[in-house]
Amino acid sequence: MGEMLVLIDHNDGQPRKVSLQMLSAATKLAAEAGQTVSAVWLGEGGADAAAVLGEHGAAKLYHWDSPDAFAYVTLPQVDALEAALSASGADTLLFASSNHVKDVAARLAIRVDGGVITDVTDLAVGDGGRLHATKEVFGGDLITTSKVADGKVALFGVSPNAFPVEASGGSAPETVALDVTLSEAATAAKVTSVEKVGSADRPDIGEAAIVVAGGRGLGNEQGFELMEQLADVIGAGVGASRAATDAGWYPHRYQIGQTGRTVSPTLYLGAGISGAIQHRAGMQTAQHIIAVNKDAEAPIFQIADFGVVGDLYKVVPKLIEELQTRKG
Ligand SMILES: Cc1cc2nc3c(=O)[nH]c(=O)nc-3n(C[C@H](O)[C@H](O)[C@H](O)COP(=O)(O)OP(=O)(O)OC[C@H]3O[C@@H](n4cnc5c(N)ncnc54)[C@H](O)[C@@H]3O)c2cc1C
Repeated sequence: MGEMLVLIDHNDGQPRKVSLQMLSAATKLAAEAGQTVSAVWLGEGGADAAAVLGEHGAAKLYHWDSPDAFAYVTLPQVDALEAALSASGADTLLFASSNHVKDVAARLAIRVDGGVITDVTDLAVGDGGRLHATKEVFGGDLITTSKVADGKVALFGVSPNAFPVEASGGSAPETVALDVTLSEAATAAKVTSVEKVGSADRPDIGEAAIVVAGGRGLGNEQGFELMEQLADVIGAGVGASRAATDAGWYPHRYQIGQTGRTVSPTLYLGAGISGAIQHRAGMQTAQHIIAVNKDAEAPIFQIADFGVVGDLYKVVPKLIEELQTRKG
């Protein structure tokens, strides 16, 4: 029986939510395609996470329990994934569509003569059991379905929150230690330090189930304190429009849109954001969209599920107050 691989993105020894989402989706897809799901864990801690990976559908776990995985830039992970593809004989790998892993996947595709499709929001089993991927292109103007050519290894970068987490209740997977020989080039660029940016308590906007975002309508950088206050009541990440980041009110790494991050949360709330096409390109796959804007004609209302026409400085504090009351 063939294997479908899922590269587990992890942090502090725990699989990130996107990894459990991918495993959950892969479990269904693999069953339909007559395959099994195998997780791939690079770096230390894989064996300790085996149980949770099994609960979410992994029948097998390939792990490379080595600090080398992240001690050098990119290439050790390419070497290890090549080893995982070779050991499993798999022709399909799902990975989290982050900038870092896209870089790894692009290099891997060249090594194995495969194809990469990134920012995938849905997957379905097509002819011959090959996966077909849905994604938005041209800033969300078009939705395409594509597949990697038959006979080639298919690498799919899956967007966070594209799939729900569904535990299948499986038992701990069979574990296989990968035998990885680092290529000479792999140790050429060493990582000398890693610094976490952003709030340790607030979720990353790429992964957060709820994202609240502020725009030019906030008027100044203090406005983001209000958005952070709202975020912290509901456990959300905070994003911004480009107008707000360009004004220096919030760091550029939180910019949502065509030239910023793509977010796909369960709930997006935009305050003081007009909803320009370039902003929408980064958030319109959110499952539910709430907009607060004093202009009833603002384009964001065309895609909002729930809109409040009003001054955000009146609406947002009331919202925070109400949420705090409900939380008790
Ligand atoms: C090549 C290119 C790439 C781009 N990439 C991005 C990108 O990645 N992300 C991005 O966001 N933009 C991007 N832009 C910019 C984009 O076109 C818009 O200019 C930008 O999104 C506007 O940001 P905004 O909605 O915050 O500001 P505005 O368009 O100025 O809207 C502000 C809104 O706030 C409302 N408002 C004002 N005061 C209040 C108040 N007190 N209460 C409630 N509402 C209020 C106004 O009615 C208005 O609708 C890009 C542009 C180009 C050309």
